[in-house]
Amino acid sequence: MDGRYEPVESPDDTTVFPYHDLEPPTTADVARARKVVSRYLPETPLVRSEHLSVATEADVYLKREDTLPTGAFKVRGGVNLLATLDAEFRDRGVLAASSGNHGLSVAWAGREFGVPVTIGVPEDANAGKVRAMEQLGADVVRHGPDYDAARERVESLAVESGKRYVHSGNEPKLLAGVGTAGLEVVEELPEVDRLYCPVGGGTAAVGYCLTVGALTDADIVGVQSAAAPAMHRAYHEDTLAPHDRMETSAEGVATRVPFALTMELLRDGLGDFELVSEDAIGDAVARLFTEERIVMEGACGTAVAAALEADDIAGETVVVPVSGRNIDRAKLDAILAEHADAT
Ligand SMILES: *Cc1c(COP(=O)(O)O)cnc(C)c1O
Repeated sequence: MDGRYEPVESPDDTTVFPYHDLEPPTTADVARARKVVSRYLPETPLVRSEHLSVATEADVYLKREDTLPTGAFKVRGGVNLLATLDAEFRDRGVLAASSGNHGLSVAWAGREFGVPVTIGVPEDANAGKVRAMEQLGADVVRHGPDYDAARERVESLAVESGKRYVHSGNEPKLLAGVGTAGLEVVEELPEVDRLYCPVGGGTAAVGYCLTVGALTDADIVGVQSAAAPAMHRAYHEDTLAPHDRMETSAEGVATRVPFALTMELLRDGLGDFELVSEDAIGDAVARLFTEERIVMEGACGTAVAAALEADDIAGETVVVPVSGRNIDRAKLDAILAEHADAT
């Protein structure tokens, strides 16, 4: 085995391999990705939320990424990356570490393109997401207390096996694929003033910056849980240092280590980056279920909560992606019980 499967020096505290192209993707790359993605995935609906529009005095539209196969936006990136994978890796297979939806994305695309997939998940991963990965034919490896522990395990498996490690953020093809959602928004709602986007590793927000941010006058606002603020600190303090605090119950935004490629693009592209409390996230999830029967993950509740807390969006046209619907059933029940009076 040659040096191709040994890690190279990484610009952040994660591991990258020689095949990881760290050239920032452009809006043109997103347009190219769209030709690929649109062959495999439907466009998603952009639907006005009557409840959020009344509550915020703005015109709030939900980009229903939860209607995609796998129930989350990330599959756009997995499709774009695996559709154009080197033949060498098509045979050997790919590996990814994930708290859930990134793994589901790679597993779905792996099945579509006939590529063997291994996913490393934390020991206490969302059981429904793990089951869904296995149903798609992925090999699931459980390791460690959190995403970063599972990630380190998968990185060493990549060295041993020569499979391609699919990083969850430092991947231009994932970013370009994910960005295709933003092109759909630009076409349907070019008058958008603001888009609130949840941030975990930052791929979704980068995708919207390269599209809605670059092609319209809209501000893209990133949102994270105050209980897991690694990317927020990286953005505001110009550091890529891992954060000590990582306590959010929303696994889609439970990041401890900021990623270099996404952060570079977010520093240029975001209009602002905000934090919301775990309580506000729970309230947002409960409201959308109670008022509109939309099931969303806590990760997505971050962006809904930020829109609800904004005091300057009256009269604006606002978009919030429903980034994923794969919330653990017991977690949803607990949130609904705790926020029974949410409206
Ligand atoms: C991954 C994820 C996010 C965060 O996206 P990043 O691209 O990692 O910032 C938000 N919501 C859901 C449902 C997710 O799965």
